[in-house]
Amino acid sequence: MKYVVVIGDGMGDWPLAELNGKTPLQIADKPNIDNLTLKGRAGLLQTVPEALNPGSDVANMSIFGYNPLEYYSGRGPLEAGGINIKLSKDEVVFRCNLITEEDGRLMSSNAGHIGSQEAKVLINHLNRSLMDENNEFGKFLLDDMNSDNLNTPIFHGGMDYKHLFVIQDVLLSKVDLTPPHDILGEEINGYLSLGVEGETIKNLILQSKDVLENHPINKKRVKQGKNPANMIWLWGQGLKPKLPLFKDIHGVNGSVITGVDLLKGIGVFAGLDIINVPGATAFYDTDYKAKGRYGVDNLEKQDVQFIHIESPDEAGHDGNVEEKIKAIERIDKHIVGQILDNINNYEDYKIAVLPDHFTPIATRTHSRDPVPLAIYSSTNVPDEVKVYDESSVVDGSLNMDKGYNLVKRLLDH
Ligand SMILES: [Zn+2]
Repeated sequence: MKYVVVIGDGMGDWPLAELNGKTPLQIADKPNIDNLTLKGRAGLLQTVPEALNPGSDVANMSIFGYNPLEYYSGRGPLEAGGINIKLSKDEVVFRCNLITEEDGRLMSSNAGHIGSQEAKVLINHLNRSLMDENNEFGKFLLDDMNSDNLNTPIFHGGMDYKHLFVIQDVLLSKVDLTPPHDILGEEINGYLSLGVEGETIKNLILQSKDVLENHPINKKRVKQGKNPANMIWLWGQGLKPKLPLFKDIHGVNGSVITGVDLLKGIGVFAGLDIINVPGATAFYDTDYKAKGRYGVDNLEKQDVQFIHIESPDEAGHDGNVEEKIKAIERIDKHIVGQILDNINNYEDYKIAVLPDHFTPIATRTHSRDPVPLAIYSSTNVPDEVKVYDESSVVDGSLNMDKGYNLVKRLLDH
């Protein structure tokens, strides 16, 4: 038996007036996903437990079969796994966004989608400033660290605007920080009352502006009418997670295709193979065809293939309904379509399609609605659901309130 799980990040949405009361999933032309729903089974899956925030980290951990209430320790360390950073047990990893600040407000949580190349220069610049005794940036922090003979804190460059900050201070894992995409347009000071323990983080965030604002890259970006990456935002921190291996739990091997470090990291900690696909990005320009092709080819070697696509989520955060519909249609055509065209080489197989969470266009951030799930199995009889969207799957036979049971359900029935 072969298994494919296609995750359209943030694909779920609410009815929109501009779509005459329909959702992007209901408007998108997606014959392949609808067909596998018609011939398969469907339902709603709760990927986010009530006690946790509806982040991609928590939701995808559920989809990979891990109960987030038991195993989730923060987004930062998962992403660190995705870029092969080795962590000691007392190192805390923060997600470090490059953001745009203007007049004390957070105007872009991704510095106008700054690319990896420019971002890398700025991240190196932050590290150099951190080490420079004549620079005020992070001096307070280094004095502390040196006196205790601990590892020097460091920024690690990831993809686009998504970077990491690692510091050896267990107490910082408890500071209450807000995801920057949840406070667009708001005054940042309102989100930096972090108490005594959080003082170092607050100072780092605020002082980063002095280091970044006048960097030639930012001057150039402003001239070009782009958002400058003139501040960092630290959040999503945690200690290294301890996950039992996917193979030890389920007795099968598997792999992950994604353009996102977070998903790679979950795969790494779960002991899954990470398949790097040329042209796979975390944005609208990802190479859907290549992802589908690698997914097909890789099935020869693996039992379970996760294929994750970030673009619908980015469209949700951008409030861009057209791009969201386009992303869904491309996932249908190039990924689900290619899998369906090739998977009947195998005698028995199952294909699951779902988002990790909703990213409603209306709010431009994640919600905790249960997500629509469809599973086609070459061995099961179908249920009554005929098309795939947020409301039509409700009458299906796959409703589950614990998202982390999906993998077990997929493999056992
Ligand atoms: Zn997500």
